[in-house]
Amino acid sequence: MNSTAQQGGTKRIVVFSGAGVSAESGIRTFRDSGGLWEEYRIEEVATPEAWIKDPKRVLHFYDLRREQVMNALPNTAHLAIADLEKHFHVDVVTQNIDDLHERAGSSNVLHLHGEIRKARSTKDPDLVIPIVGARLAWGAECALGSQLRPHIVWFGEEVPLLPVAANIVARADVLIVVGTSLQVYPAAGLVDHAQPGSRIYVVDPEAVASPRPNGVHIQAPASIGVPIVVKELLRSAGLSG
Ligand code: NAD
Repeated sequence: MNSTAQQGGTKRIVVFSGAGVSAESGIRTFRDSGGLWEEYRIEEVATPEAWIKDPKRVLHFYDLRREQVMNALPNTAHLAIADLEKHFHVDVVTQNIDDLHERAGSSNVLHLHGEIRKARSTKDPDLVIPIVGARLAWGAECALGSQLRPHIVWFGEEVPLLPVAANIVARADVLIVVGTSLQVYPAAGLVDHAQPGSRIYVVDPEAVASPRPNGVHIQAPASIGVPIVVKELLRSAGLSG
């Protein structure tokens, strides 16, 4: 960590991101029209029941999304978040299943809802492996001989990393909430773990409710709003004019 930033008071920054941070990379948000979600009903592709009923359909749905992610590139917002590491300790807690924060250069990324480019054993949830290519085939097995499933937290499933994420948010001096409608629980409740003395910025083009009355809402797309927040943080840490 840069010592000048420590003198400025801000030590730990936590970025809590949602689908909106990847929208400008061409990956549609949950609620956008015309997206994959519109062609599929959530219950048919993103629940444990769907997996039992029609696993091939579920695999196909995630194959399409994986392909989309592999063809996408990190945008200005992902890159600005990664750049913050030059000056501060930064943790990214994301609801996204894409790997654009990592590809932009962020080192500490926690994926609350799983990772599209990984698969896990249906016998042992801790057995997680990377998927080579875009396709996870029906019949692809883990080392224990059971079918591999997408490493995704489906609707109706526990969010195993939630307590870890809550701890990270609780240690933030600054929390940047970007591109999330804060409507998907329990993840959305994470913002309540921020300490009363921390600063909160919300970046979203829509008039989303700030998690705190004194939170700063920058009503702009992530590619514009995140650099504004970064500039402000650097300025208040005495790192730029
Ligand atoms: P959401 O779809 O509920 O909300 C998206 C938010 O992003 C909205 O508030 C919208 O106004 C905002 N937004 C749209 N364009 C933006 C932009 N250019 N810059 C900044 N903000 C923008 O998404 P959510 O809150 O993340 O919850 C949806 C769930 O769907 C999550 O659990 C996530 O796992 C999943 N999801 C993930 C991806 C991904 O991995 N990229 C994509 C779609 C959905």
